[in-house]
Amino acid sequence: MRTIGLIGGMSWESTALYYKLINERVRDRLGKLHSAPLLLYSYDFQEIKEMQYAGRWREAASSLAEVARRLEDAGARAIVLCTNTMHKLAPDITSSLTIPFIHIGDATAQRIRAKGYRRVGLLGTRFTMEEEFYIDRLRAHDLDVLVPSEGARADVNRIIYDELCLGNVTAPSRRRYQDVMAALVAAGAECIILGCTEITMLVGQGDTTVETFDTTAIHAEAAADFAIG
Ligand code: GLU
Repeated sequence: MRTIGLIGGMSWESTALYYKLINERVRDRLGKLHSAPLLLYSYDFQEIKEMQYAGRWREAASSLAEVARRLEDAGARAIVLCTNTMHKLAPDITSSLTIPFIHIGDATAQRIRAKGYRRVGLLGTRFTMEEEFYIDRLRAHDLDVLVPSEGARADVNRIIYDELCLGNVTAPSRRRYQDVMAALVAAGAECIILGCTEITMLVGQGDTTVETFDTTAIHAEAAADFAIG
């Protein structure tokens, strides 16, 4: 198998899911005691969050690029960045790599197009829902992207950073997400992207009438499949 390099800790709650999902996929595909060869660099997420909210993106970009290079030097054959939001910096990271970067948006969009959907509802952090880097990546796969209203986006974002990244999963927050997804479906969404790697802890297929696409599971599966080759 090929070694994969994970850049995680954003938050560690979802990186733990990646670790489990990647290894389960390798076990299911290869059997016996097979598990994934991987290297993990795990950030202190408080430092990342401070850079995000202060707009210190250049600093974050050089740090992530340096970590990716170190993983490549240590033997990684592909890089997996375990967060949707920090894919904002994907161009900075890939420019100094000679190995593939498995993009979470591409992996998710390919899965959605294979199912024949066009209009997707997107949940994620404010950065993911409001900036171009993620939505444009989905559009490049011929998807129409709907995002929640401003007030709903604020709640979705707050619940991610203040609750899910700390491992807090509550019934009121689940209801809020259910309502936000229902509004996206009413506005024409044919499916919903759980476009933040912690959202799968809170809601899933049972919480909306349309199909959900869990970026954590999709990305982890793509990583495992790369490792297996
Ligand atoms: N894990 C989240 C994501 O997939 C949010 C945390 C972050 O800002 O990286 O976007």
